[in-house]
Amino acid sequence: MSGVRTAGARPSDPCPCGSGAVFGACCEPIHDGAPAPTAEALMRSRYSAFVVGDEDHIFRTWHPRTRPPGPYCHPGTAWLGLRIVETVGGGAADETGIVEFVARYRAWDGRGGVVEDELVERGRFIRRAGRWLYETAL
Ligand SMILES: [Zn+2]
Repeated sequence: MSGVRTAGARPSDPCPCGSGAVFGACCEPIHDGAPAPTAEALMRSRYSAFVVGDEDHIFRTWHPRTRPPGPYCHPGTAWLGLRIVETVGGGAADETGIVEFVARYRAWDGRGGVVEDELVERGRFIRRAGRWLYETAL
């Protein structure tokens, strides 16, 4: 399912997840199907998918038991930055992990203006068949 990226980022652009690496060496390979090595890497790739509008990646990396119907990206919401607060487990040798993060965004307020706010979440991730999946917010 390619061609669903609505915003896009070039491989040489700074990665939207804020890692400091370029997109083509950070989240893009994971969007293209490479397994994320850690729960944090998967979380970062999901954030970047929201930024670039990769609905397919968000769908594929959401546990089928908890995944809501899409679409997941909303044109009125702009994601401004990601900060990882804490990671518990979620390493290459783990089967579960927790990643706490803060994602800043700007959205329409429904009254013709815009609001900036933060999404603070402690998310649980599990690994199935070698692939990390987002399960739920705790
Ligand atoms: Zn990244």
